[in-house]
Amino acid sequence: MFESLQDRLGSILNGLTGRGALSEADVSAALREVRRALLEADVALEVVRGFTDRVREKAVGAEVLKSIKPGQMVVKIVHDELIATLGAEGEVIDLNAPAPVVIMMVGLQGSGKTTTTAKIAKRLTERERKKVLMASLDTRRPAAQEQLRQLGSQTGVETLPIIAGQSPTDISARAVQAAKLGGYDVVILDTAGRTHIDEPLMAEMAEIKRRSNPHEILLVADSLTGQDAVNLARSFDERIGITGLVLTRMDGDGRGGAALSMRAVTGKPIKLIGVGEKMGELEEFHPRRIADRILG
Ligand code: GDP
Repeated sequence: MFESLQDRLGSILNGLTGRGALSEADVSAALREVRRALLEADVALEVVRGFTDRVREKAVGAEVLKSIKPGQMVVKIVHDELIATLGAEGEVIDLNAPAPVVIMMVGLQGSGKTTTTAKIAKRLTERERKKVLMASLDTRRPAAQEQLRQLGSQTGVETLPIIAGQSPTDISARAVQAAKLGGYDVVILDTAGRTHIDEPLMAEMAEIKRRSNPHEILLVADSLTGQDAVNLARSFDERIGITGLVLTRMDGDGRGGAALSMRAVTGKPIKLIGVGEKMGELEEFHPRRIADRILG
């Protein structure tokens, strides 16, 4: 669908072979293409700016190696910078705290929060042999608590019994208490989303955090979120203080720019990615793969 960045840069820069160092003008021309590629991949504008500034610093004056073409060299600088920005490989959910370790899932409605909660619970149960309890705090959407219960029975993970009429914060306190009494290692709280960020949502998240003292707060976000990704990640991080990101729908045909945007503005690790609707379709994050995808 897109001409690769490598091809585009090749046609701009490869005439330069043998000229020594990359000049300011060469780099500026190349960066226009880099900027275009990032915007096409849906990286947020402010993140693109910071990113291209860093690449400019590294590229201007860089000696063009005889063995590679200038276009390839700029692609390599861009690729390395993408990986550095996307963060480390092999980030894991941190369970290094007294049991029950509380994991709070936050995000907008429809981002894949409930699905991801169940996927993580299954993973911790099967791979790490943890005893996991899940609880839905979504009292706004009538079917939400039932949805989590069904996913739990499908995956063999227990859910907190539903008591009608309880507030989200009361459910969170009850879940932590039940996990303590029941000898659970981990309790995962699936909070309610909204269609957009608003103050009542943030106030509710802050109160749940205060009552349940989570060790991990994971922001679940749709990887197809475009320019809004920055706003979303920043709002949750500034107000609630997230510890990591989970990007869903990475099986879609998006280029994954939201991953770069959210990581860049929060500095928080991308811990897992969702790659399908099924319960097993959760994977570790590999920055190199995303970098390749963003570059096209
Ligand atoms: P919530 O409102 O944030 O709790 O979102 P849900 O967990 O109910 O998910 C909304 C829809 O997205 C459901 O149809 C899920 O099956 C789907 N979904 C969640 N994660 C993924 C994913 O990684 N890939 C795909 N293709 N679909 C997903």
